[in-house]
Amino acid sequence: MAASVALLGVPWDEMSSYRRGAAAAPPLIREAFRCESSNDWSERGIELTAQNVVDAGDVPAASGPAMLAAIESAAGGLLARGLAPISLGGDHAITYPILRAFAHRCPRLSILHFDAHPDLYDEFGGNRYSHACPFARIMEERLAGRLVQVGIRTVNRHQREQAARFGVEMIEMRNFHGDFDPAFDGPVYVSFDMDALDPAHAPGVSHREPGGLSTRQAIDMIQRIRAPIVGADVVEFNPAQDVAGLTAMVCGRLVKEIAARMLENGQAGGR
Ligand code: MN
Ligand code: MN
Repeated sequence: MAASVALLGVPWDEMSSYRRGAAAAPPLIREAFRCESSNDWSERGIELTAQNVVDAGDVPAASGPAMLAAIESAAGGLLARGLAPISLGGDHAITYPILRAFAHRCPRLSILHFDAHPDLYDEFGGNRYSHACPFARIMEERLAGRLVQVGIRTVNRHQREQAARFGVEMIEMRNFHGDFDPAFDGPVYVSFDMDALDPAHAPGVSHREPGGLSTRQAIDMIQRIRAPIVGADVVEFNPAQDVAGLTAMVCGRLVKEIAARMLENGQAGGR
């Protein structure tokens, strides 16, 4: 199997609205991904080697618009090399510049977005690039053909209006069934905010919202994707909030299952 997946660290939490700390996550996710307490195989039997999952290092530290541009440029560079990036956040603000990098390569991209929050605010605390806003920017700029959200359990009136305005397929947690299948028919981008999971499964997040997905339900959804997965991110892991390294290991497992599914479904890198 050719090298086609690249891990890209994005140690940036400047756009977090409540609690900082997610910038410290990338090295811990990498460590968990390769931790010898487990092995390098996905559940479905794909071996993840240093050849089929390469490490592209971190986006160099910057601030504000310069960092947004640096993230877009780093993701675009990997796509130009035919690699499918799995970006390790950082907070959720990183997803908008990454999707900009995808825009002209994958015009009808579908997004599967795991999150407790819709992240559809027009602005939050006066900041249009807040981690509460990335999917409003993505939908305004028509960077995605479909946006399917799962794990959602914090919707207010404004975000419900935004979801309707943008045609978001929002599967709220109160209506979620474990066999849900969005049945994507084209390239998919997976954006995984760790607070989609119940805090009992992943306590290391800045915004703990009870009543979330189990790790099992999330992995099942990833394994159920049959369309090519051209990119992904795992964001909002906050090591300062973690308990005994539990959430880091969940991140490592998610990266493993997403990378394996990219390799299994083919066309990684969007080609
Ligand atoms: Mn989010
Ligand atoms: Mn969230």
